[in-house]
Amino acid sequence: MTTFPNIFRPLDLGFTVLPNRILMGSMHTGLEDRKAHERVAAYFAERARGGVGLMVTGGVAPNEEGAALPGAGKLSTTQEVEEHRPTTKAVHAEGGRIAMQILHSGRYAYHQGGVSASPIKSPISPFAPIELDEAGIEKQIADFANCAVLAREAGYDGVEIMGSEGYFINQFLVTHTNKRTDDWGGSYANRMRLPVEIVKRIRKAVGDDFIIIYRLSMIDLVPNGSQWSEVVQLAKAIEAAGASIINTGIGWHEARIPTIATSVPRRAFTWVTKRLMGEVSIPLITSNRINTPQVAEDVLAEGCADMVSMARPFLADAEFVNKAKEGRADEITPCIACNQACLDHTFQLKLSTCLVNPRACHETELNYRPTENAKKIAVVGAGPAGLSAALVAAERGHHVTLFERASEIGGQLNMAKQVPGKEEFFGLVDYYKRQLDLKGVTVLLDKGASAEQLVRSDFDEVVISTGVVPRDPEIPGQDHAKVLSYIDVLKDRKPVGTSVAVIGAGGIGFDVCEFLAHQGVSPTVELDLWKQEWGVGDPAITPGGLSPEGPRPEPSPRQITMLQRKAKKHGAGLGKTTGWIHRASLAMKDIKMLGNVNYEAIDDRGLYISFGEERRDPQWLEVETIVLCAGQLSDNALAHDLDRMGIANHVIGGAFEAGELDAKRAIDQGSRLAATL
Ligand code: NAP
Ligand code: SF4
Repeated sequence: MTTFPNIFRPLDLGFTVLPNRILMGSMHTGLEDRKAHERVAAYFAERARGGVGLMVTGGVAPNEEGAALPGAGKLSTTQEVEEHRPTTKAVHAEGGRIAMQILHSGRYAYHQGGVSASPIKSPISPFAPIELDEAGIEKQIADFANCAVLAREAGYDGVEIMGSEGYFINQFLVTHTNKRTDDWGGSYANRMRLPVEIVKRIRKAVGDDFIIIYRLSMIDLVPNGSQWSEVVQLAKAIEAAGASIINTGIGWHEARIPTIATSVPRRAFTWVTKRLMGEVSIPLITSNRINTPQVAEDVLAEGCADMVSMARPFLADAEFVNKAKEGRADEITPCIACNQACLDHTFQLKLSTCLVNPRACHETELNYRPTENAKKIAVVGAGPAGLSAALVAAERGHHVTLFERASEIGGQLNMAKQVPGKEEFFGLVDYYKRQLDLKGVTVLLDKGASAEQLVRSDFDEVVISTGVVPRDPEIPGQDHAKVLSYIDVLKDRKPVGTSVAVIGAGGIGFDVCEFLAHQGVSPTVELDLWKQEWGVGDPAITPGGLSPEGPRPEPSPRQITMLQRKAKKHGAGLGKTTGWIHRASLAMKDIKMLGNVNYEAIDDRGLYISFGEERRDPQWLEVETIVLCAGQLSDNALAHDLDRMGIANHVIGGAFEAGELDAKRAIDQGSRLAATL
């Protein structure tokens, strides 16, 4: 008897039965673009083995004009079919099922040949699309159908038609992007002809026993988006046209409301899918910020959908479904929705992986094989780097002792979890605790290890992951009682005044501002508050679902100024897909940002600053508290002691390199080192 009865209820589609209600949603990993077909196959095979009911590939264009980038994955010729066969074969060999997503970018295409309903440039591509004529529209529909037929030939179990997120099909649906006056524009019946024709044509071409998922944008989150009555009308027409399943799309890519970031409440949009339940008789899939089996089970039990889509959680843990089935939900490596190694990489044209699972997309190259020579290994420091090194080493069969001078494991993760919007870090630290237990790592808390002690204990390998210490900004007067470090604020919860200057605008400066600008409950754990903060309304009231009042954040309990010496934009080094959210969030709280600053002095009056090399406009910021977030330096004293004694050691994480350190690099480095010990 499983703890998650709704997840493990099979789903009968008539011609095939899915074993459970979990879909691995489409993700673009970059493996496909590198033509690494065997790696793509290994990536999907591992996830099929993990028990997921159905998987969807990253987007594949039906023709050149629909490709996101020149040369991006497309399937329009029989030669291209061969590229897909290793994947479908490997997935089927594992007993899995896989559908290929057909993604036409329309005006989001990052090249000159993009096409759309009207020649209106999108805010996220520098290229205006070419307006299609009737024949051009007919060609696109035929190309979708051809692509689906080729997908079937390649061995896929179905296709997903990407009709949401502001891509080509979405661009025809709404007046925001469709200004046509012919039969493909104007009335809603005309605007929805394109998706309906595409589904009809695909069904006719592929036959009855092939899965067609249609991803339908249920809340566009852009001005003049679809109204709820249109969403219902479209869903009914898509069902009648022959779709097997409707999946939920949330928000266009150009929307200024976060939809999958870690600060978005879990299952923030399942209410939208729930509203469509009962309007159609084919299964509905819901999506976005669902990352644990319990949340998925609750969503299904509450009748929000027939199936749940999760994407990033399958980068974090390929075995998500099997672990849930076997009563091992607490062993699932949690996706913390950080985007740092997946979506941020995609936007930088780098291969995706996962912050908490560096093996993701590296299945053929990074493996934790059992050791034939079990060693006695000391790991000093239980932050992300040390934890991952200790766990991978123990998993491989080594005897690991983990020293931590604090009274708890987690290092900087324990500070991150205090920040409103970063609650997922709690689950990550809990996961590590459980893993240390399961893998039999000896954990010595409140124990800083000395070089002599390590030598006495005769370890075969010593791993130094002692992390970082705050950088001293050397500001005259910084010993004043009104000066705190970020550790004082986030960890030790020292009292902070109502007027604050935050020195430093890196990740931690932003975290400290977020922490100080909130009062009471975090919007991330209170959906109504979060919707109010970002201005998420109801598509039945406002087309697109933006609230008529706009964003209405709770005011900050403090007046905060964040400063940096650089002249460029604050938070320029934050994640590509999340930096804008952090900046918008602080702007909504009226946090003042000053750049090009010199820190002259601190005294009872506050912080004395000037601007630029000429030290112009000197002035006092009369603040009650000054928080130092001036970056960090490596804490590698122990490594130096060992070096002096001639004892070999491996230095990783912040102790190795503090600049630009984040948990992604720390975990990757720790895991890769331990894979070789
Ligand atoms: P950081 O990103 O290196 O930022 C340090 C800040 O301190 C910069 O704004 C820098 O700006 C300032 N600074 C540097 N030297 C200074 C000096 N001598 N005097 C005064 N100011 C100085 O470091 P961090 O904020 O401590 O973050 C550490 C790492 O954790 C980062 O890599 C970050 O990416 C990661 N992190 C990420 C997140 C996230 O949201 N993804 C959150 C927290 C932490 P100026 O030089 O212009 O003054
Ligand atoms: Fe999730 Fe972050 Fe991993 Fe992406 S990088 S899958 S968001 S944990």
